[in-house]
Amino acid sequence: MPGFELFGDLERNEVNDVLDNGVLMRYGFDAMRKGHWKAKELEAQLSESFNVNYVQLVSSGTAAVSVALASAGIGAGDEVIMPSFTFVASFEAIMMLGATPILVDIDETLTLDPLAVKAAITSKTKAVMVVQMCGSMGHMDKLRDICNNHNLIFVEDACQAIGGTYNGQALGSIADVGCFSFDFVKTITCGEGGAIITNNKDYYLNADHYSDHGHDHVGQDRGAETHPFLGYNFRISELNAAVGLAQVKRLPEFISIQKKNYSILRASLAQIPEVTFRTVPEGGEESCAFLNFFLPSLDITRKVSESFKLNGIDACFHYYDNNWHYVRKWDHLKDLKSLFPISKEVKDGLSYLKTKTFEQSDDIIGRNLSCLVKLSWTEEEALTRAKKMAELIKTCI
Ligand SMILES: *Cc1c(COP(=O)(O)O)cnc(C)c1O
Repeated sequence: MPGFELFGDLERNEVNDVLDNGVLMRYGFDAMRKGHWKAKELEAQLSESFNVNYVQLVSSGTAAVSVALASAGIGAGDEVIMPSFTFVASFEAIMMLGATPILVDIDETLTLDPLAVKAAITSKTKAVMVVQMCGSMGHMDKLRDICNNHNLIFVEDACQAIGGTYNGQALGSIADVGCFSFDFVKTITCGEGGAIITNNKDYYLNADHYSDHGHDHVGQDRGAETHPFLGYNFRISELNAAVGLAQVKRLPEFISIQKKNYSILRASLAQIPEVTFRTVPEGGEESCAFLNFFLPSLDITRKVSESFKLNGIDACFHYYDNNWHYVRKWDHLKDLKSLFPISKEVKDGLSYLKTKTFEQSDDIIGRNLSCLVKLSWTEEEALTRAKKMAELIKTCI
């Protein structure tokens, strides 16, 4: 992460191609667009790159999660199990549909602890959403088994792990339905954009219609299309899709740079006995968008985080003290500070957050640092950084 670091003529040419032609919308205007279909081309490319049957582009990763859940029929009264450590988008996307997010502990994979998932299942549970945080993945086999045994939909938010794999399969393509974000800080970017990927044709058709006001997309006259069910507008524009089209072609290059830089940092930190690394399930290969490691205690981790900041090691996150990624600081959710009234069902459904504690997650996130792996570093820069990080850690232990 992130693709915005490497930006150039490829992206410019794709965008100019759209501007020169003049159709900025992904649907309709068939005669005017003279064969320009950037969103459709990007969907085809993503389908090939991730070896998945269906791809629906949308306006953001948050929209992708919401549309994915809607497409699988999740809504009012349903509970969706999600991790305590993720981006706020996870519960936003669930609550937008009137469903209730059920937050559970993570383990050292930095996402769902399968035991915590099992313990949280009720008669209202409809889905389990794994969030592949910081370039890696959860225990996919165990989570899949739980979903199969309890007849639950398995959702995979792979917004932060594009390019990672599990047993050779692309992250995002393993669960029943997966989501990507192409916002400005993700590994490949559209500026703003997202995608739903799935091998389930019904989910795909639902996503295709739902994200465009319910349009069935049959025929060449938008005005004459029918609306088999209610929808919304989560469309991506041709301009955003054009940027993504250039970026997705560079994904293999981006991943190989990330892997190289990640390896340099990891090799240096691995020499410190007090440093341990996140668990990556057997068969898993990280996208290497981040290097995540653990220190012996919360105090030491805070000290190292401070020392990194003071000494020019930027983009290393201690999520324990972060407002956006960890339940500890989500008071707006716990206090239900909404601009508009929230249904009684969701209010009651979320009351558990007033008292529930996340000791296991607190311990793990308290000791974790997550360092962004940049694409723009030279080998020399990565080596210098790796050495400096190790030195700073040693002074804090
Ligand atoms: C970025 C992100 C999202 C949301 O994506 P946007 O495109 O910014 O809406 C959702 N989930 C995770 C894990 C993310 O990192």
